[in-house]
Amino acid sequence: INAIAVMTSGGDSPGMNPAIRSVTRAALNQGIRVFGINRGYSGLIIGDLSELKSSDVTNIVQRGGTILKSDRCEAFKDPVVRNQAAEILKEHGIGGLIVIGGDGSLTGAHLLTQETGLPVVGLPGTIDNDIYGTDDSIGFDTALNTALEAIDKIRDTAVSHERIFLVEVMGRNSGHIASQVGVACGAEMIVVPEIDFKLDALCFSLANQRAEGRGSSGIIVVAEGPKPGLTYRLANQLETHGEKPGVCILGHIQRGGRPTGHDRVLASCLGAAAVTYLMAGFTDIMVGMINSKITATPLLDIMEKKKPLNPQLVELAQLLHK
Ligand code: ATP
Repeated sequence: INAIAVMTSGGDSPGMNPAIRSVTRAALNQGIRVFGINRGYSGLIIGDLSELKSSDVTNIVQRGGTILKSDRCEAFKDPVVRNQAAEILKEHGIGGLIVIGGDGSLTGAHLLTQETGLPVVGLPGTIDNDIYGTDDSIGFDTALNTALEAIDKIRDTAVSHERIFLVEVMGRNSGHIASQVGVACGAEMIVVPEIDFKLDALCFSLANQRAEGRGSSGIIVVAEGPKPGLTYRLANQLETHGEKPGVCILGHIQRGGRPTGHDRVLASCLGAAAVTYLMAGFTDIMVGMINSKITATPLLDIMEKKKPLNPQLVELAQLLHK
């Protein structure tokens, strides 16, 4: 392989830039040319790419988002289109691809290498941390800290007005962000898709709080879940039980911002390792970090295995609150 390409796909996450920088510099230092593909698979299928020099990744280690832009591309679900994409890379003399993205992006990466034989290595780039094969995904730690900063502020109002606030965090079908944010912000309750939520238990706990003279303020962290509007539905249900909850949907602020030190180090380690694996002849794998060690997991496992939530975290939040 004399040249490789790198791209970011799906939702952007803080740390994608240090990952791009690491891939680029690690490859250039081995004499391998690097191409950056713009706008994920949307750019790949139309050959929107340009060669990256070392200076192109200067001063990006601290920046959120992705200098390569990101996108969602329905057309890439078509095998004919994937085949054309591989041809475009071959025309540019590109012998390997590094895809930084979430589980959807990594599914596309798996199909691309399976169908065309193009060597592809994935990196876990998503704030959701729902990817099997790595303790943390790139961007998760920053999103956690961004959500915490916001919730600490919301708590000031919750306490001053003796109100309950339902705070919705991202995470799609998984409660990884919610469970960690919930423990870290001292939430009174955490609602995640993986565990049945008992409204009665929440109302009971609020009533107890009042009976003990602790006021009725509190933060309930809600994972957005698969169906939009969950947090407002919960707020309506609480109102029927006599509560007057506030609702705050944190939304896209969780995806932006300067990557934390943890995310920068993780992204830097994984980016360089992805180049090493690709040059050693590996394909159809995702490079992650488990117990502080770099690991390679087949992309098929990433697609088929769900990363389990630590249910103890959800219980811990309630235990510490009592
Ligand atoms: P995040 O979880 O942060 O949103 P993601 O990578 O999971 O990131 P998706 O929107 O699920 O985000 O996927 C990104 C892109 O990956 C899709 O727009 C599509 O181009 C490609 N992709 C997803 N699923 C498939 C699939 N089954 N086959 C081929 N390509 C896919």
